[in-house]
Amino acid sequence: MTTLADRLKALIVADGPLPVSTFMQLCLHDPQHGYYATRPGLGEDFRTAPETSQVFGELLGIWAALEWRAMGAPSRFNLVELGPGRGTLMADALRATRPVQGFQEAANIVLVEASPALREAQTDRLSPHGVAHVDALNDVPDGPSIILANEFLDCLPARQFVRDGEAWRERVIGLSETGDLVFGLAADRSPPGEAQLSGDAVEVQPGLALIVDALAEREAPFRALFIDYGPADGAPGDTLRAFKAGAQVDPLAAPGECDLTVDVDFSRLARHARAAGLGVAGPMPQGPFLGTLGIEARMRQLIQQNPDAASEIHRGVADLVEPDKMGLRFKAICLSSPDLPPPAGF
Ligand code: SAH
Repeated sequence: MTTLADRLKALIVADGPLPVSTFMQLCLHDPQHGYYATRPGLGEDFRTAPETSQVFGELLGIWAALEWRAMGAPSRFNLVELGPGRGTLMADALRATRPVQGFQEAANIVLVEASPALREAQTDRLSPHGVAHVDALNDVPDGPSIILANEFLDCLPARQFVRDGEAWRERVIGLSETGDLVFGLAADRSPPGEAQLSGDAVEVQPGLALIVDALAEREAPFRALFIDYGPADGAPGDTLRAFKAGAQVDPLAAPGECDLTVDVDFSRLARHARAAGLGVAGPMPQGPFLGTLGIEARMRQLIQQNPDAASEIHRGVADLVEPDKMGLRFKAICLSSPDLPPPAGF
């Protein structure tokens, strides 16, 4: 049986070395071999905030309800999630917002998901609520929208550029003399003009600009909350990482069998959004963001309801907020349509 490594090697022989972004795209989404397309190992290969504590999705649900009200509680709106994984965040958000009058009746739940396997898992998980799947943000129906995305931006393919004296060269994946996949540098190809160049390496995710474009085209009001890891300012250098069974592995060792991720360039996302006339709140570290949304109070309430699980509940929340866990490295940023008041939590 051909593996993704075989296919990548054949592609390189036929067409020359691949940009890192093409490699990421094929490793994650190739229909026959891609990681998300065929064997998404959420919870095994890597663990995300909604899988760490139910409080994460609950607070994001409450946030969505607050913002729905701030928009004037429209009687129909899209409650959108980008890359919902196993559907845990949305399930927790919907449970937490059950008491909010009118919210769920008004919500048209739209999930933007590339992976057929994960679409199925999401439909099962959220079965009491009708959900619709679409391929991209552009396919979300018209109308007011509240958009949530956790650990979605970090898997958008990145191009990498390395400084070579005065010039910049694109990092590519080619073949060694023994026919193995190796990193190398293209003869030319500079970073896009708008990239902020500092240091000796820079990563650019073209998808960030496409997301801003898709948001800017929406006519009805929206809020889009993205939570991910990355520096608050300054572009990431070389941050491509691969994870399998909870451990970091060589990204070239087993293509398609591990999750691939890069740090998100929040300042570039904010720059694009401002240039497109959108409102920008943050980026703000996850710990303080969840703190303003009331994570302590919710934790105490859960412990009171279930004292036997106190240490487990406490540990989950600590993982989300502590500075040396996810509290500082993860950031929240909210992009909004023009003319909305500042969002809650920032
Ligand atoms: N938000 C979830 C899962 C994060 S993993 C959580 O926090 O647990 C990334 C998710 O984004 C997966 O569901 C993956 O299939 C999806 N995804 C990645 N790239 C995508 C793309 N370009 N379009 C749609 N979905 C994508």
